[in-house]
Amino acid sequence: MGSPQRRPEVERPTHSLIERPLPAEALAGRATGPAPRLFEERPREILARHDLGAAGVHYTLDPYRGCQLACVYCSARPMHEHLGVGGERWGSGADFATRLIARPEAPQLLDQALQRRRLRGRAVQLSGATDPYQPLEAALGITRACLDVCLRRDAPVGLQTKSALVLRDRDLLLALHRGPGVHVAVSLASLDAARAAALEPGAPPPLARLKIVERLAAAGIPVGISVAPAILGLTDTDIVRMLTAAKDAGASTAFYLRLRLPGLIEPMLVRRVRATLPDRARRVLAGLDGHGTAPAGRRAHAEDPMEQIFCFTAGRLGLAFTRGAPWPSTVAQLEARWAERRAPAAQLPLAAARAPERAAAEQLSLL
Ligand code: SF4
Repeated sequence: MGSPQRRPEVERPTHSLIERPLPAEALAGRATGPAPRLFEERPREILARHDLGAAGVHYTLDPYRGCQLACVYCSARPMHEHLGVGGERWGSGADFATRLIARPEAPQLLDQALQRRRLRGRAVQLSGATDPYQPLEAALGITRACLDVCLRRDAPVGLQTKSALVLRDRDLLLALHRGPGVHVAVSLASLDAARAAALEPGAPPPLARLKIVERLAAAGIPVGISVAPAILGLTDTDIVRMLTAAKDAGASTAFYLRLRLPGLIEPMLVRRVRATLPDRARRVLAGLDGHGTAPAGRRAHAEDPMEQIFCFTAGRLGLAFTRGAPWPSTVAQLEARWAERRAPAAQLPLAAARAPERAAAEQLSLL
C-alpha cells in the first residue's frame, strides 16, 4: 500500500476499542499463525487530511486498521504500536495482521463529511494504511458502503489493493467511472509466486493480481499497476516483464515507489529475507542501506537504475506513469478531471483553485 507521505492532520481516532466476534468469512485463505481478533472503533472523523505541500491537500479513508495481507515491509505497521485494549499494548509485528480494527460507522461519517462545501469535488483515496479489500471486507462490506456514498455524493475515488475482492464491486466502480471518476491501482513487487508469498503472505500470487487488472480493464474500469515497493535484488529482475504483463492485461497507468522502511520494519524485513529468500538475501539486504529516509529528490531518481528501467519501459509500452506513492497523483488527476467536467456549470473557480494539484498530476493521465 502506498502509505501517506505525512501524518494525517484531521483524523482523531478515539482508540476506544470494543471486541467483536470475528466473522467466518474473515478467515478465508488464512495461513497458519495466531488467530485474528476483531475490534470496533468509532472515530469522530473518518477522512484523514494530508497536506503534501506543492502536491496539494488530499484525503484518505481507512475502513479498517491493521491488515490481513500482512506484508512484512508495510509502512503502516508502526501505527499499530499506538493501539491496544485494556493494559495490552500492540506491536507492529504479528499484531498488525491479527489485531484488526473495523470502523463500521465509516460510511455515515463519510456521508456527513462529503456534504461539507469545502469537500465538493475532492477525491477520496481508499486506503492510506490498510488494504480496503482484505478478507474482513467480504463479511463487513464497509468499503463497498463507502463507495456507494461516494457515488451518491459525487466524489471521485482512488483505490489501491492487492485483493481480488475488489472485483465484487465492479458494478459500483463502473458507475463511479461514468460519474465522478475512479481509478484502481493493483500493487506488485515481484512476479515470482514464492518470493511474493515470503514477503506478502496474505496477498494473492502475482499472476492472480494481474488477473485482477485484466478483469477490471475488461469491465471498462481504469486500472493501473503499482510497482510498489520496488525492492532492489527482487523487483529489478522482474520489472520489465511486470510492466509488459500489466500492459497486456489492460493496465493504462503505472506507478513506481521505492522501498522505504520506517521504524522497526527494517529488522523484520531482514529476518524474513534471511529466513525465506536465501538465494536473494545478499542482494536484497545490500540494497536496504539508507532506505529509512526519503530519497533526495532528482539525485535519487538519477541514481536509481530500477527507476530508470521503469520509466523507460513504461514509456515504451505507452503506459501513463509516475513515480512516488500512487495515490497523491491519482487523486489530484481525478479531482482535475472532476472539475473540468463540471467547469461550464459554474465550477471554474474550483478548477482554478486546484491549479497546483493539476500541475503535480500532469505527468499522469487517467483519462
Ligand atoms: S496490503 Fe498494503 S496495507 Fe496491507 S499489509 Fe500489504 S502493504 Fe500493508
